[in-house]
Amino acid sequence: MQGQATPESTKPLMIIVPRAQTTLSTALHRAFQNDATVEVTVDRRVTERRGVADTVHRQRERRRRPEVHPDLTAGRWIVVARPSPSIDVVDDRMRAILFLCCAHHAIPCQQCQNTYRLGWVQRLDQAHFACPLCRNDLTETVLAHAAGCQNFS
Ligand SMILES: [Zn+2]
Ligand SMILES: [Zn+2]
Repeated sequence: MQGQATPESTKPLMIIVPRAQTTLSTALHRAFQNDATVEVTVDRRVTERRGVADTVHRQRERRRRPEVHPDLTAGRWIVVARPSPSIDVVDDRMRAILFLCCAHHAIPCQQCQNTYRLGWVQRLDQAHFACPLCRNDLTETVLAHAAGCQNFS
């Protein structure tokens, strides 16, 4: 219930689609149009500065800089997660909510360029999650989902 958040900053996951991939971007937009956790956006290449709040997010992000990501150049979409400071580890309660209430919610896997329901995501151990197909580590994506999903508010 944070009051005056801008639409762009409210979703903790962002899928950035290469500008040339219009069919793909339409499909992804449709897949996540009613989703509170994933924003689908088209790569603009021109970097926009969104102010101080975004700079803080960038500092928290250890790696990826979307505007220079090689996958975008290769025509693949990328996932950018903005982890919430309040949710940084998966505990028992969270795990239960994820698999009981969020089972039908979708999260993206950048590595295999697909989206999966949380009910299908593999549990590596108590606190880590992986893609059911390519085994890519999706823990950060799951945490970001929890940060934006109503089931956790
Ligand atoms: Zn959810
Ligand atoms: Zn995958």
